[in-house]
Amino acid sequence: MLNQGLGSWPLRRARSSPHQRALVVGADEQTYAGLVERTTRFAHALRSMGVAHGDRVAYLGANAASLVETMFAAHLLGAVFVPLNTRLTAAELSFQLDDCGASVLVYATGHAGVVEQLQVAAPPVLVAVGGGSAAALDFEERLQASPADLIDEPVGYDDPAMILYTSGTTGRPKGAVLTHGNVIWNCMNVLVELDIAGDEVTLISAPLFHVAALNMTLLPTLLKGGCAVLMTGWNVDDCFDLVERHGVTWMFGVPTMFADLTRSPRWASADLSSIRSLLAGGAPVPTSLIAAYQQRGLRFLQGYGLTEAAPGALIVRAEMSTVKVGSAGVPHFFSDVRLARSDVAGSGATEGELLIQGPTVMAGYWGRPDATAAAITENGWIRTGDVGRVDEDGYYFVVGRLKEMYISGGENVYPAEVESALLRHPAVEECAVIGVPDDRWGEVGQAFVRVRSGHRITEQDLLAFLDGRLARYKIPKTVRFMDELPRTGSGKIHRDKLR
Ligand code: AMP
Repeated sequence: MLNQGLGSWPLRRARSSPHQRALVVGADEQTYAGLVERTTRFAHALRSMGVAHGDRVAYLGANAASLVETMFAAHLLGAVFVPLNTRLTAAELSFQLDDCGASVLVYATGHAGVVEQLQVAAPPVLVAVGGGSAAALDFEERLQASPADLIDEPVGYDDPAMILYTSGTTGRPKGAVLTHGNVIWNCMNVLVELDIAGDEVTLISAPLFHVAALNMTLLPTLLKGGCAVLMTGWNVDDCFDLVERHGVTWMFGVPTMFADLTRSPRWASADLSSIRSLLAGGAPVPTSLIAAYQQRGLRFLQGYGLTEAAPGALIVRAEMSTVKVGSAGVPHFFSDVRLARSDVAGSGATEGELLIQGPTVMAGYWGRPDATAAAITENGWIRTGDVGRVDEDGYYFVVGRLKEMYISGGENVYPAEVESALLRHPAVEECAVIGVPDDRWGEVGQAFVRVRSGHRITEQDLLAFLDGRLARYKIPKTVRFMDELPRTGSGKIHRDKLR
């Protein structure tokens, strides 16, 4: 078997267009031939650190060429890439590294502080990008010291390519395992539905540790031989500058990012004429936002998906977004979507849990057969935890969530995780966290707390207690103290009443 995995892509591309730009980061540009050389060298370096087929290679850092190089290098060896969210605390990162059993952690030196605080049972080999640590190997030095001869490792479509952590309803993060095949089929969906061309200049504006940036934008662009311009962090002015300087043709963003652009003083005057399409997704897209982009004559698409589906499942093509306002779309070409209760009698009863089936559905959760069995039906339909309805033309609308998750600025927050952190405070007897609407972030957390008798505590104390224990975006914005939390008949906290 040949290397049919993602790691072979730069090489396949370089055969026909070696000098074409693959990556642009700041003033640095990398061609496909350059990408092949660096990923091959780093694959040899990883191998000399003991990385073999199936081993896990984690990466911690903002968007950078080294992230892309680490990923493809791991894939050349048949190893599994695990991108880590840079906003997590040392404890949260340690959990994920332990869970996946990473044998190597590549990190950008800006994160050295958190890396020093990691507590992992079997510590990974550390590789620092940017150097400067006695405890870590130097990325650039290891890469340059390694040979550039081709790696001859068979990698198949069913081999795991990446583990992406996404919390479950239980609040404990679970690693969704996506195979090379899952990712390839997702890219096929993107190419078909978004008409991605070989001369695309894609702005990677969201962090690559999120599935949407990685699988909806970076990989489809490189598959077609286009150029990916990496943003190292979200900034409205940088975004406008990069679009104008590089003639960006498309980008993906969460609704908060697209809303930020419209609020900028540059919105009216920015030259966006190079843009062919924009894709918003990852959270409900407000109709006012769609209108703002359409009024400027921009092709504004919306998508729905989730990590476990690699991620794209539904899409509203631009020509339909004025007709099907607020819809999450129709299934991608190679994906099937249905409602769990679509068989309920009566034409009005069209609401139910959204289910997705097809070649993009994950292999399962890493080391969690129980959670996998609960998430995927016998026939291979993944339960999304989202409630949808479908109209007579087959357009789906996301109308609610069965899972308690809420989305703040594009980041998923699981109340159970926040609640268990709150419960560690000695004064908290009982608590509940819900997402409440917010103009800027879409939703923000609000905590409801019953204080243990004999204790006194303020909102400030509690928020300070969470600082450092949870990533910032998970920390509720407000706390309300209550004598009693409302309960359902079965004794569970009544979240709808809290809302
Ligand atoms: P993630 O696994 O981080 O990609 O998060 C997936 C979840 O984000 C889905 O299960 C939905 O709850 C939510 N989501 C993604 N796209 C949309 C959308 N277009 N409309 C509403 N919710 C969305």
